Amino acid sequence: MNPRKVCLLAGGVGGAKMAEGLAAHDDVALTVIGNVADDESFHGLWVSPDIDTLTYSLAGRIDRAQGWGVADEGHRALETLKLLGAETWMSLGDRDFGLHIHRTMRRARGDRPSDIARDVARAFGVTPAILLPTDDVVQTRLRTTDGRWLSFQEYFVRERCAPEIREIAFSGMDMARPTPEALAAITAADLIVIAPSNPLVSIAPILGVPGITEALRAATAPKIAVSPFIDGRVVKGPADRMMASLGLRADALGVARRYRTLADRLVIDHADDALAAEIAAEGPAPHYSDILMKSQADKARLAREILDLAFTPAEAMA
Ligand code: GDP
Ligand code: CA
Repeated sequence: MNPRKVCLLAGGVGGAKMAEGLAAHDDVALTVIGNVADDESFHGLWVSPDIDTLTYSLAGRIDRAQGWGVADEGHRALETLKLLGAETWMSLGDRDFGLHIHRTMRRARGDRPSDIARDVARAFGVTPAILLPTDDVVQTRLRTTDGRWLSFQEYFVRERCAPEIREIAFSGMDMARPTPEALAAITAADLIVIAPSNPLVSIAPILGVPGITEALRAATAPKIAVSPFIDGRVVKGPADRMMASLGLRADALGVARRYRTLADRLVIDHADDALAAEIAAEGPAPHYSDILMKSQADKARLAREILDLAFTPAEAMA
């Protein structure tokens, strides 16, 4: 049988776990559309944290304990920068710096960011395609209660998600053009999966690129989203506090409402079955599973369940 074409929309850590699970199956041809809105310049270098988390994870080079960054990493370059008086709150490792230097050099030369991401993934031995939703610069901006606009990394790393968020904007989004690769992957997909990534700052800036949501709506493939909330909590990160401070439900129901018109199914945790009635009434049809991915086996099992949900006729599942 030809492998199923699966197109995954993914942010960083939660997205990469789902990508690894899908990539573990031989009957899947995986394409991942990542998030570029966390990108930012540090020390003159263009850093693309979510794309690199996908690449490092799928290459088996990720620091498994933290879920991001490279394993067996050192920080000597950062020590030098600190000695020279640079701001070093953004932790960038020595191995990681090599990639940022390469990316920056190629961008300066005028290469397409998509081509750079593809070549980097290939060099690292990654089999799935890692695509960018746009080659244009789109950046998340977060307005705090005290009226400051922060970049994602300023909010997330420098201020450790402490400020309360009033508003989220994506600079450059209006003018951004989708990449032909991302549009083609969506159109050709047999299954579209929305990873359990932060809906507001990982998935929203993919969906917001003009043309991407339209392509998703036009696609005939089933669309299955996975909740990043388990038992009313996020596994990690600020999605719960962000959603709450924007007046949204910070739980699987909030996710269901968000993906109501986009996804056919929402995979949620058994721990959230108290929300079943509300989710069934307001969101995509729920499917209950264990959605915490700790081990490689957890990731592969959840991915298999999603594939079964999409491709096994209902009678066979009963
Ligand atoms: P980031 O860019 O590194 O913040 O990563 P993502 O946006 O891709 O993912 C962040 C989200 O992943 C958080 O809201 C977490 O709750 C969620 N997440 C992390 N690990 C898991 C997991 O094992 N299972 C599920 N369902 N969600 C997870
Ligand atoms: Ca991210």
